[in-house]
Amino acid sequence: MVLATTPLAAIAVNTINPEYGQEWGVCGDLETATWSYSSDWRWNPTTKARFEAGFWNWVNDVHDHKGNRVLNKGGTTFVAEWADLGTTLHAETVCLPWDHRIRFNTRYYNEFYNGTYDMEAISTHEWGHAWGLGHVGKKDTWPAAQGYASMATCIAGSDQSRRSLSHDDEAAISIQDGTQVVRGYATASANSSFEESEFGGTEYWYGINVSTFYTTSSGGGADTTPRYAKFRGALVPSEIFNETMFNWYSGGWLKARANFKKDSSVDSGTVTILLGYQRLDRVGSCGELADLSSPIENWQWVARTCYPSTNWNYCTTAATAISGQHHRVIRTRVFVKNYMTRFGLPTYLRTDRDRVMVKGASVPW
Ligand SMILES: [Zn+2]
Repeated sequence: MVLATTPLAAIAVNTINPEYGQEWGVCGDLETATWSYSSDWRWNPTTKARFEAGFWNWVNDVHDHKGNRVLNKGGTTFVAEWADLGTTLHAETVCLPWDHRIRFNTRYYNEFYNGTYDMEAISTHEWGHAWGLGHVGKKDTWPAAQGYASMATCIAGSDQSRRSLSHDDEAAISIQDGTQVVRGYATASANSSFEESEFGGTEYWYGINVSTFYTTSSGGGADTTPRYAKFRGALVPSEIFNETMFNWYSGGWLKARANFKKDSSVDSGTVTILLGYQRLDRVGSCGELADLSSPIENWQWVARTCYPSTNWNYCTTAATAISGQHHRVIRTRVFVKNYMTRFGLPTYLRTDRDRVMVKGASVPW
């Protein structure tokens, strides 16, 4: 994907096709899109429903930190059509200033129609390109069980798991969304304000020594968000973290920020915000991440300790410059470590808007 503020955004003509492994760029209006159907006989209620489901998978699932939809129907019209795309592609998205199309391969019409190939998953992937996203690589972030990326470089035609958005898919939109930019830094963590609801609001977050982790609207969150999270464990510290991978082409800065608040005025202790990042290389034609076998560097860590009060405050790590030309994947994590106690025992921390932030980088997704 591409930030709306990156140099690539200034390129008015986007003639590339992401399915051939090229970098993707701005594709029409990045926050609104709609479609019209070609007159092809292959458009029928079944194929139309699967195509449209791919659109709504994005619109219904991506929210900003206030819980509002980021993507909406309208704006740029993509012509949905069928074409002979040869034997290597299920579908492709064409993006020119005067021409926006999502094309399905006529050679696989029967498989799309009878369900051998999952047209909804493939439509979800193509709509990701329509929102301006490129490919993230083969895998989603850890753990893979959370879901494979719809915007993986290659997806099997039969893979229904690509219908639902992964952590990285949602993070790509959050990087792009101008409403979540603070002082030039864009949010690069999915569900950074716990507004997603599929798993009670804790979707994409993982715990270490956490015995209780839930979201609530009681009293309101940071930055007037409706919801925030509370967690604690039997030990100190208990910690939650979120991992995101994204392409990183050159330059830029990374930092991590979390908002937090005492659960009770009698609580005492600290919270530590920890940014982790690691550059990875790709291997293979589908851009598999060589994350376990050959990372080009070990995890790098930047920590900051802060003191919660009875009001919402935030804690931000030092900004870390990512220098040089990378053309690689960056894996990031933001940890929130809860050292709070109440009468000597571990207690809850209220936290919200916890995320890795990026600035000044060329970050095609
Ligand atoms: Zn693609």
